[in-house]
Amino acid sequence: MGEHALLSASSSHRWLNCPPSARLEEGFADSANDYAAEGTAAHALAEHKLREFLKLSSKRPVSRYDSQELEDYTDAYVAYACELISEAYLRSNDPITLVEQRLDFSHYVPEGFGTGDLVIVADGILDVVDLKYGKGIMVSAEHNPQMMLYALGALALFDNLYDIQKVRMTICQPRLDNISIFELPLDKLLIWAETELKPKALLAMKGEGEFVCGEHCRFCRARATCRTRAERNLELAKLDFKPPALLTDDEIAEVLSRAEDLARWSADVWEYAQSEAISGRKKWPGYKVVEGRSNRKYSDEAVVAETLLAAGQYSENTIYNRKLIGITDMEKLLGKKQFNELLDSFIVKPPGKQTLVVASDKRQEWNSAVADFT
Ligand code: SF4
Repeated sequence: MGEHALLSASSSHRWLNCPPSARLEEGFADSANDYAAEGTAAHALAEHKLREFLKLSSKRPVSRYDSQELEDYTDAYVAYACELISEAYLRSNDPITLVEQRLDFSHYVPEGFGTGDLVIVADGILDVVDLKYGKGIMVSAEHNPQMMLYALGALALFDNLYDIQKVRMTICQPRLDNISIFELPLDKLLIWAETELKPKALLAMKGEGEFVCGEHCRFCRARATCRTRAERNLELAKLDFKPPALLTDDEIAEVLSRAEDLARWSADVWEYAQSEAISGRKKWPGYKVVEGRSNRKYSDEAVVAETLLAAGQYSENTIYNRKLIGITDMEKLLGKKQFNELLDSFIVKPPGKQTLVVASDKRQEWNSAVADFT
């Protein structure tokens, strides 16, 4: 893993909203997970492909995530990046293109730096492109502080040499077919940097400012034990109901609006407490660690099969259960293109189980009247 800034670009959404979170998080280990490692592998492969396109020396990386799927999705990102580079050559004779460039924005954020996956300068436009390999959450480039920090870092490299007037920030998330673009005139970016970014970064560096809860708490390393978050959630739980004996529809709607945050917070606290207890670091009063339920399993499947066949009463057909691998694994094996060519007409999507969600959810509302007639 590479070095990591306290006020990193990737956590900027959090420390801009809750400046003291950066220092508070220092006390917690960074649990880099398998998804992060897969993202690193995707970036390395994408970088290699882009460098080849630009005729720069490069060696193809090898990783345990190598698969047709990784190949296809990095190809999709690289195809988009190459299009941007080609466009830049149409606009200007001498565009500058940088791949996996270290970007230093420490003139606004103490010790701040990050890596830009692709930076292009051509004809007054600065392009900053970020590959996001995750597929859990669709990420928007709109006023995305991580992208704005990268843009400030890139500007520091070129501003004196090129007459940049506009920055264009693009997030490419190939596994969700998401290309999100946000353009900002240079002066607006600089005003934000001076008036909002700089003061908040100084507060965050000193561990000062106000703790503020919000959706940015979700990936905060202090999320399970943060007092402000606990107080806010316990406050949410205090609903002041009056008679009659049964809750009204409005009161139930009020409970629903708070339940999601409360459930997420209590799950975070539970997960933290459980992992501390299992590791032996903590013993919580009134709780103990036990062994969970487990199922019997064969110690050696090949030997079991041999034993049964040797017994003479059983055939392979009776002892084996042949099954196709699942759709996600099949798509990984074949790659998206071949999967679609060979299997598209054999994939069906049965209607999902109805579920209650917030009105702002992007899915279309389920219509029980239509469903009754189909
Ligand atoms: S959990 Fe939320 S409120 Fe607490 S420090 Fe982290 S971001 Fe701030």
